[in-house]
Amino acid sequence: MDLSQLFKGQKLKMKCPACETSFDAPAEKVMKEGSVIDCPGCNKGITISHDDASFKELKKSLDELKKMFR
Ligand SMILES: [Zn+2]
Repeated sequence: MDLSQLFKGQKLKMKCPACETSFDAPAEKVMKEGSVIDCPGCNKGITISHDDASFKELKKSLDELKKMFR
Protein backbone atom coordinates (compact mmCIF):
# COMPACT_ATOMS: atom_id res chain seq x y z
CA MET A 1 0.00 0.00 0.00
CA ASP A 2 1.27 3.43 -0.88
CA LEU A 3 1.05 5.33 2.37
CA SER A 4 1.84 8.74 0.97
CA GLN A 5 -1.11 8.32 -1.40
CA LEU A 6 -3.30 7.19 1.48
CA PHE A 7 -2.50 10.23 3.58
CA LYS A 8 -2.83 12.74 0.78
CA GLY A 9 -4.97 15.68 1.88
CA GLN A 10 -4.86 14.61 5.52
CA LYS A 11 -3.51 16.92 8.19
CA LEU A 12 -1.42 15.96 11.16
CA LYS A 13 -0.83 18.01 14.26
CA MET A 14 2.78 18.79 14.87
CA LYS A 15 4.76 21.07 17.10
CA CYS A 16 7.62 23.24 16.01
CA PRO A 17 10.77 22.30 17.95
CA ALA A 18 12.02 25.89 17.76
CA CYS A 19 9.02 27.97 18.87
CA GLU A 20 6.62 25.23 20.08
CA THR A 21 3.79 26.44 17.88
CA SER A 22 1.27 23.69 17.19
CA PHE A 23 -0.02 23.53 13.66
CA ASP A 24 -1.50 21.21 11.07
CA ALA A 25 1.04 19.79 8.67
CA PRO A 26 0.26 17.99 5.41
CA ALA A 27 0.44 14.29 6.23
CA GLU A 28 2.13 13.31 2.98
CA LYS A 29 5.06 15.56 3.93
CA VAL A 30 5.24 14.26 7.47
CA MET A 31 5.32 10.72 6.18
CA LYS A 32 8.39 11.44 4.14
CA GLU A 33 11.53 11.53 6.23
CA GLY A 34 13.77 14.45 5.36
CA SER A 35 11.05 16.66 3.94
CA VAL A 36 10.93 20.24 5.18
CA ILE A 37 7.80 21.90 6.54
CA ASP A 38 7.66 25.63 7.15
CA CYS A 39 6.52 26.59 10.64
CA PRO A 40 3.72 29.18 10.53
CA GLY A 41 4.92 30.54 13.87
CA CYS A 42 8.57 31.34 13.27
CA ASN A 43 8.82 30.60 9.52
CA LYS A 44 11.67 28.21 10.11
CA GLY A 45 11.91 25.08 8.06
CA ILE A 46 11.40 21.96 10.13
CA THR A 47 13.15 18.92 8.72
CA ILE A 48 11.14 15.79 9.37
CA SER A 49 13.13 13.16 11.21
CA HIS A 50 11.32 10.03 12.21
CA ASP A 51 13.87 9.38 14.94
CA ASP A 52 13.19 12.71 16.57
CA ALA A 53 11.51 12.76 19.98
CA SER A 54 9.09 15.39 18.71
CA PHE A 55 7.96 12.89 16.12
CA LYS A 56 6.58 10.58 18.79
CA GLU A 57 3.43 12.65 19.15
CA LEU A 58 3.07 12.72 15.40
CA LYS A 59 3.48 9.01 15.23
CA LYS A 60 0.44 8.63 17.48
CA SER A 61 -1.65 10.64 15.02
CA LEU A 62 -0.26 8.58 12.18
CA ASP A 63 -1.17 5.34 13.89
CA GLU A 64 -4.70 6.62 14.47
CA LEU A 65 -4.98 7.58 10.83
CA LYS A 66 -3.76 4.17 9.77
CA LYS A 67 -6.44 2.52 11.90
CA MET A 68 -9.08 4.52 10.11
CA PHE A 69 -7.99 3.06 6.80
CA ARG A 70 -7.65 -0.48 8.00
ZN1 LIG B 1 8.37 27.60 14.81
